[in-house]
Amino acid sequence: MKNVLLVAGLLFAIFGNAQIKLPRLISDGVVLQRDEKIKIWGWASPNEKVEMSLKGKKYSTTADQNGDWDIQLKPQKAGGPYTITFKGNNEVSVKDVLFGDVWLGAGQSNMVTPMERVKEKYPDEVANADYPEIRNFFIPTLSNVDGPQKDLPAGEWKPAVAGDIMQMGAVTFFFAKDLYNKYHVPIGIINSSVGGTPIESWVSEDGFKEFPKDLATIQRNKDESYSSQFTTRPPSSNVQPEIKDEGLTGPLKWYENEYQPKGWNNYYIPGYWEDQGLRDLNGVVWFRRELEIPDELVGVEAKLFMGRIVDADEVYVNGTKIGNITYQYPPRRYTVPEGVLKKGKNLIVVRVTNSGGKGGFVPDKNYELTANGISVDLKGEWQYKVGEVFKPFRGARRGGGYNQFWAQNQPTALYNAMVAPLTNMTVKGMLWYQGESNTGRPKAYADYLPALIKDWREKFNKPNAPFLWVQLANFQDVNYLPTESNWAELRFSQFKTLSVPNTAMAVIIDLGEWNDIHPLNKEGVGKRLALGALKLAYGEDIVYSGPIFKSSEIQGDKIVLHFDSVGSGLVSNDGEPLHRFEIAGQDQEFVWADAQIVGNTVEVTSDEVPRPAYVRYAWADNPRGANLYNKEGLPASPFQNFDNEELNQLPWQGKKAAVILTYDDALNVHLDNVVPLLDSLNLKGTFYVSTFSEAFRNRLNDWKRITWNGHELANHTIFHPCIGKESRPWVKPDYDMATYTVQRMVDEIKINNTLLEALDGKKERTFAYTCGDFTVNGDDFFIDGLKDDLVAARAVRSEMHTIDQVDLFNMDSYAIVDATGDEMIDMVKQAVETNSLLIFLFHGVGGEHSMNVSLPAHKQLLEYLKEHDTEVWTAPLIDVAKNVKTYQSKTKTN
Ligand SMILES: [Zn+2]
Repeated sequence: MKNVLLVAGLLFAIFGNAQIKLPRLISDGVVLQRDEKIKIWGWASPNEKVEMSLKGKKYSTTADQNGDWDIQLKPQKAGGPYTITFKGNNEVSVKDVLFGDVWLGAGQSNMVTPMERVKEKYPDEVANADYPEIRNFFIPTLSNVDGPQKDLPAGEWKPAVAGDIMQMGAVTFFFAKDLYNKYHVPIGIINSSVGGTPIESWVSEDGFKEFPKDLATIQRNKDESYSSQFTTRPPSSNVQPEIKDEGLTGPLKWYENEYQPKGWNNYYIPGYWEDQGLRDLNGVVWFRRELEIPDELVGVEAKLFMGRIVDADEVYVNGTKIGNITYQYPPRRYTVPEGVLKKGKNLIVVRVTNSGGKGGFVPDKNYELTANGISVDLKGEWQYKVGEVFKPFRGARRGGGYNQFWAQNQPTALYNAMVAPLTNMTVKGMLWYQGESNTGRPKAYADYLPALIKDWREKFNKPNAPFLWVQLANFQDVNYLPTESNWAELRFSQFKTLSVPNTAMAVIIDLGEWNDIHPLNKEGVGKRLALGALKLAYGEDIVYSGPIFKSSEIQGDKIVLHFDSVGSGLVSNDGEPLHRFEIAGQDQEFVWADAQIVGNTVEVTSDEVPRPAYVRYAWADNPRGANLYNKEGLPASPFQNFDNEELNQLPWQGKKAAVILTYDDALNVHLDNVVPLLDSLNLKGTFYVSTFSEAFRNRLNDWKRITWNGHELANHTIFHPCIGKESRPWVKPDYDMATYTVQRMVDEIKINNTLLEALDGKKERTFAYTCGDFTVNGDDFFIDGLKDDLVAARAVRSEMHTIDQVDLFNMDSYAIVDATGDEMIDMVKQAVETNSLLIFLFHGVGGEHSMNVSLPAHKQLLEYLKEHDTEVWTAPLIDVAKNVKTYQSKTKTN
């Protein structure tokens, strides 16, 4: 409320002397939605009468006490141009008004990317664009964490004609062009997008009802005393206050013609300097090359293409600076002015600054000097010299860390400033191209995207508005083995959002570039979005999507996949066998699969997986070679036939019981006897480690290596303290928990977490009470101080529990001493009968500990578990704990 008043007050201060004021959007050249009831709105002085006239018709209304007014218009036919005039105490008119279809486009940089950026790829479009009835309104970048704003400070409608088209978003231009060419009605695009921003920035506060953490952040950010201590500057603007670059500080600068190079080394362009002998160097590196040029280039204006450069560059030709770019993403296309290129030797010098990651020249890009149809290749041998080395950056200090509050990445910040002012406008539908900035938390995206859709439909008062988004493109290095991928996870979250009604997804898994997060093929993206619009918004009976996975059935040794959007049939688009299908058994260990199109299905098998359960397709950052299409030429969306998030909603992931194999005290036999057997059966164990253990300290690399196969390293304290008793003569006085303080116990467990993280890189950890003891110092419980550091804790009591009975910080287990295989299998059967969790606790396996189980008995148990993996879920304790957590939190809220 404070902000509404503030805005109203501000408006009053500027325009308040009885003046009608219109929102920025309602300005010359505006496109208004045809064929639907729409609203024209604005401000005036309180209670002022406002008259509007359009097409010879008069409308009138009165501003309310805050000066707000609006006028409803009946559905209008497509057409124009018209003039709308408004009369109160003043008179305002809006010229060149068209009625047509208005689309809101939003997202990150790929939605911003203007035609200017892709002009080399689409020279004809740029030179000959003549679509005065396609109009673009680009929303200026603004953020606000206080609350929704009423209007924009700037912005105007621009037609898609030569010149103005340069600033129009390329995706939205090609989208609009297809619609315009089909229907010949005006198309208005409102483009509200900011590069590098997460989806949370674009959702309104109301849209976060189901997200308590974000709501807390929003409230906190509204407190100015909190938010004012942070910078609002993008983290990338890493200002170097003082020039220390030797290339600029000497008597002759390194780009000058008179400079005599000394101590330069060879370098091959393209490529990153970390790959050419400059280890981990952040700083300034200079590159130079002398070259002879053909006579035709002498003296003329030429184009210099330097591909892409990470991060910033300045380019000099014969001592003249011809351009610079300050960040890595734009293509380097410089103009060498007339008169600079000379006969004989020419000198090109490039100064490159890089502050993090690999620096240098991006491969597979264009490096050439060209004019009049003649081209000189600039790839190949250059020389380099280091000008400056940046000291390692000390993060988290005031004044320059990366974790700072950056307003535009805060929840609601962009919604408030860049979407809220638009919501009175009636739109035909919405386009969304975003997700790159959410790949760090890809699963959460499956909650955020539906939340955004619901939110915007409500705010724009169009509950069923067509909503179309672009799935993330293929990007980054190609994996030639099945692999996990956050990009694939995010694409799957986008895929799952198709369950929201009246939505469509443009799949572009074939339009990306491995080395460019901003792929150039924007025409393909726009066209595929337009197909979705034709179907959802214009009711055309067309195939608008590639194959979308619908369901799967397991038939013996194969999995049969069914699809929607098959169109006129499934094909391999390159005529090769289907690629990029993966298959796995219950263990979700994926291998490449053989996949064949059979009618409208795909059948997937592998000799390595006789009893398959899971399939996934195109599951990688860059699944090059994914070739399942429909005959309409549209690619299948990447998918998997399961969803671990959903599986975790079911008790024991949908199986009858869960079994956890835990092994305590870090013994040699665990590495030598247990892990090889587990690996041969593809089962995973949990190893409770006290880091003081000799077998642990002596064989760190072996313990590290077992985590690569999915085994869990878990926390059993550093020193294995226990409460000293007569029956435990081996408890050393120094490590008698009866003498510990809570703080000491908590600290030693936390330190052990840190040690284990150093081995396996994991931040989530489970714990096992040493000797099953819960207390220190007589009777003080210590686990409460650890609940932020641990996911679960295992005790030692011989009990089984159903999933709703499990106490995560007091999980029971059966300590096994000399049990036979049959006895242990009977316990598993009992767990299956009672739908319970059974935790085995082993120490010695084939020796090395007084609490021992024989190798044959242990093997018999594991083989039984493997054979019964369709009804028994055998998993590490941490995975089971997550299942329990998800299941219990869901049943509690319901
Ligand atoms: Zn122990």
